[in-house]
Amino acid sequence: MTTQTDGLLIVGEELCEKLVGRQQAFDAVQDVFAAMARGGAWNFPVIREALGYADALYGFKSGFDRDGKVLGVKSGGYWPGNAEHGLTNHQSTVFLFDPDTGRLSALVGGNYLTAVRTAASSAISIAHLARKDAKVLGMVGAGHQSAFQLRAAAEQRDFEKVVAWNPHPDMLPRLAAVADEIGLEFEAVSQQELGAQADVIITITSAFEPLLLKDWIKPGTHLACMGTDTKGKMEVDPSLVAAASVFTDEVAQSVTIGEAQHAATDGSITAEAITPIGAVINGDHSGRTSDTEITLFDGTGVGLQDLAVASVAARLADEAGLAQRATL
Ligand code: NAD
Repeated sequence: MTTQTDGLLIVGEELCEKLVGRQQAFDAVQDVFAAMARGGAWNFPVIREALGYADALYGFKSGFDRDGKVLGVKSGGYWPGNAEHGLTNHQSTVFLFDPDTGRLSALVGGNYLTAVRTAASSAISIAHLARKDAKVLGMVGAGHQSAFQLRAAAEQRDFEKVVAWNPHPDMLPRLAAVADEIGLEFEAVSQQELGAQADVIITITSAFEPLLLKDWIKPGTHLACMGTDTKGKMEVDPSLVAAASVFTDEVAQSVTIGEAQHAATDGSITAEAITPIGAVINGDHSGRTSDTEITLFDGTGVGLQDLAVASVAARLADEAGLAQRATL
């Protein structure tokens, strides 16, 4: 428990980038997914509202990790006009509270952490569900998140090549530069060719229509569908979701705002058929059962992921004496 004299820690974006690397994010998110699956951590209902101002979407994602003693909320959203002002469109801040007293204990910048925790989520799915001999990584999407996704995924298997497709092809060279930096061959391909070559596919776009069809995907592929986090969005054919073994961060979100929402609505998948990835992490579910099974991770993004990485940032900043302190 923090004491009355501890004060409030303030951990800015630069410090988060400096302190929280991919491995720390992977470990923190994996631990909280495991806690969620055994009932030791839970998310609260998400609020997300159109402000009717600046075209912005604003909301809250919160939860409590009783096992890890982390309580808090991420608040923020999407301001589409920000890029014109040289700012990131997605803006967020994490507020952490002492679960023993309810006192605000830390304010942590959430922009970098959102990217690194989202990349950790798909990386965890690859670590647990992709075939061990996966060699080709398919990337659908080339926006802000995609580079984080690529870097984290590349560490999970002995990949040799990246094949990529994006609805806006002019964005692909930036992703190609990341692949080059980490020593992976890069090829821009059609959607069909991507499905034919890739052993693991990450989708990270803002699509509202399927970008990949079921028949384009090879048996044994692992997909991490990461872009669909709102009602109405869709990245892959619902019949692909129905045909796959589906895993997720949180089942309730998967069938309402995640990639499985469409297959759930048309009745081709039920919530009971979807497995929390935490159950695989905990060893309560065997995960992939054959080299031909198509596994699909529906990464909807939960508040507990944000709190987990923010808590790491606050702890490391405190230990290093780098955080600002304030009193409310
Ligand atoms: P971005 O704006 O930087 O990039 C958007 C990507 O989507 C680009 O690849 C772009 O070409 C593509 N795109 C844009 N409009 C499209 C359309 N109408 N149809 C198909 N594709 C379109 O965004 P980003 O920060 O890279 O985020 C990508 C997506 O991931 C967003 O939808 C975001 O909401 C989602 N996201 C999910 C999580 C999660 O935890 N699951 C976390 C963060 C972001």
